[in-house]
Amino acid sequence: MQPFLIDTHAHIYLPEFDNDRAAIISNAEAEGVNAIYLPAIDSTTHIAMLETEAAYPCCKSMMGLHPCSVKEDYQKELEVVKDYLSQRNFIAVGEIGLDFYWDRTFEKKQYEAFHQQINSAVLYNLPIVIHSRNAINECIEVVAQYSTLKGIFHCFSGSLHQAEKIMALDFMLGIGGVVTFKNGGLDRVLPHIGLSHIVLETDAPYLAPVPYRGKRNEPAYTRLVAEKIAMLLNSSTDEIAIVTTQNAKNLFGIKENH
Ligand SMILES: [Zn+2]
Repeated sequence: MQPFLIDTHAHIYLPEFDNDRAAIISNAEAEGVNAIYLPAIDSTTHIAMLETEAAYPCCKSMMGLHPCSVKEDYQKELEVVKDYLSQRNFIAVGEIGLDFYWDRTFEKKQYEAFHQQINSAVLYNLPIVIHSRNAINECIEVVAQYSTLKGIFHCFSGSLHQAEKIMALDFMLGIGGVVTFKNGGLDRVLPHIGLSHIVLETDAPYLAPVPYRGKRNEPAYTRLVAEKIAMLLNSSTDEIAIVTTQNAKNLFGIKENH
């Protein structure tokens, strides 16, 4: 039997999958992806996420407010997040972080939301899943202020130096479709850092790996990510699956076979 893969980051609850969600889950299982973790975005999609989780046992929800959803009403959104976290178990607080790609209008509020949600993660002893765009160094600086915090830098595409700083904080690097892109840059980073801090992800429906680049991404493609990493590290896909699945289980505190 081939070793299982975990897609640690997929938004398969979004409308992009409304017509074929069950088929998408079967595709994933056929490729050995037996767990799919769902990062939250904001209150417009929390219900859909929780319904997807309830319908498919392989799916597990996070809870959080995405930095791109931090607007004037962010305090209200944070209350919703805190409410959910107080009511039931989630596998992580995410995705949270900083995104300065489009504009910095809400920079201060993004920092405020990031810190508040980290405090919730500390309170419930949960890992965090970080979204950072044009803000890796800023996110590293924030995370470094908390000694007991653990988590993932989702969709990591930074430099070797940044990867080393993240690993020194004992955070994981979430590697996805970008690793298959011609100018993704990860081919110059991964061979130097090994597997100890790597977990796999797709970020479906975004960032599909080659040869599906530009198309809708789905959790089954986690295998393509594993295959590419195996190539870069002169390893086997099985070995990548075994180690990254164990890394994810350790981080998320998963004990059963999911
Ligand atoms: Zn995401």
